[in-house]
Amino acid sequence: MDRLTVLGGGVLASAEATLRPDWGVEIEGDKIRAVAPNSVLESQAHSSQILDARGLILCPGFVNAHHHAYGLLSHGIPMSAPAPRGLDRFLSDFWWPRIEDRLDGKMVEAAMALACLDMIRSGFTAFCDVLEAPLAGLDSLDVEAAVVEQSGLRGVLCLEASERHGVALGRQAILQNERFARERGRDGFIRGMQCLHTSFTCSESFVRAAKESATRVGCDLHLHLSESAYEPDECRRRYGVNPVFWYDRLGLWDRNVLASQVVVVTDDEMARLAEREVRVAHMPLSNCEVGGGIAPVPRMLERGLRPGLGTDGYINDPFDVMRGAFLLHKAAARDPSVMPAQTVLAMGTAWGAEAIGLPDLGTLAAGRPADFIGIDAQSDTPLTAENATDQLVLFRSRSDVKLTVAGGRVLFRNGEVQTMDEEATRAAARREATRLWAGGGPRG
Ligand SMILES: [Zn+2]
Repeated sequence: MDRLTVLGGGVLASAEATLRPDWGVEIEGDKIRAVAPNSVLESQAHSSQILDARGLILCPGFVNAHHHAYGLLSHGIPMSAPAPRGLDRFLSDFWWPRIEDRLDGKMVEAAMALACLDMIRSGFTAFCDVLEAPLAGLDSLDVEAAVVEQSGLRGVLCLEASERHGVALGRQAILQNERFARERGRDGFIRGMQCLHTSFTCSESFVRAAKESATRVGCDLHLHLSESAYEPDECRRRYGVNPVFWYDRLGLWDRNVLASQVVVVTDDEMARLAEREVRVAHMPLSNCEVGGGIAPVPRMLERGLRPGLGTDGYINDPFDVMRGAFLLHKAAARDPSVMPAQTVLAMGTAWGAEAIGLPDLGTLAAGRPADFIGIDAQSDTPLTAENATDQLVLFRSRSDVKLTVAGGRVLFRNGEVQTMDEEATRAAARREATRLWAGGGPRG
């Protein structure tokens, strides 16, 4: 099996670990064989290729626990003035008619390619993507999978199923998720997931059908939960309870469910989610964009929930998202002691990996998947074992990511993505975005 020795400026093996200066990583196949001092690795490296990354700190790759690749095509699209008020109006007056319902296969493909390029350069090695393109065709997941496969990233892919365009189309999305998850299994770089939208676009029988499908195929299930006050308000109006308890009645919750957003929830709802061992993804920046509010993450942590971090297809720099999580909750709680950098880094790596069902990621150790990145170690103030996490989380950005390795394969080095044609990818994205903005997609 191929061996590669990556000599590092240091290794931060996990969010909880201490920086070890002058350490590196040895890879065999798609796994880590050793994490050790460079001197030891060099002395054992006869049959190994050597990659000199001594100017970089090696740490676990970031995990984007909630992404919408198609969202990248919408960046900068002019909105009506004034912007729609409230998340429900944002969706019904803007996002659904102008974006989601206009997407076709070519746009989906171009968006995913751009998203993968962007993630590789940003230091993500794994992600979970929710495609909300109900009219784009039944093979959308396969179109996306071909792109992700070429990129070398690990991807968990699903179509968002809802009854927004009627029961029949919604049920087809459930079946496509089931088919894709079954075909992909649970061992490869690309996996499937069942996925429903919300309690205001899915009926009780539809939620049950999605859950039964996930159970049948043995895959995880994803949903958006209470992204703004609209969903709990509407759920109480329709069903007399908050969404967490409505879903609880339907038997949805267990450790195989990933709830994204989770912004407007009560303490009782958080307690129930924790009790049912539900996984959570947090999107601090997109929550701001849609005026959803600030998710009660410090209270989730107190209850034992371990949220991953996602970009939501909005601002996709992992450092920006981590800084958002680091800062917003301090301001909201008026307490600088909440959300230390270590916690935020855990959310961006190991907890995100747990959230999307890849719990082996997020720690660099022998036998673990060889998914890691190299961040420029140069800094104007000392970078030490004591402050490494703060330096990396608070004072770096994606342009400081110089190396991305997923499953033992080098995806990015020397300023170049190794697995994709960057120019062609960007050109296709610009072309498809222009078509989307002009309203060229499927909506009749
Ligand atoms: Zn989302």
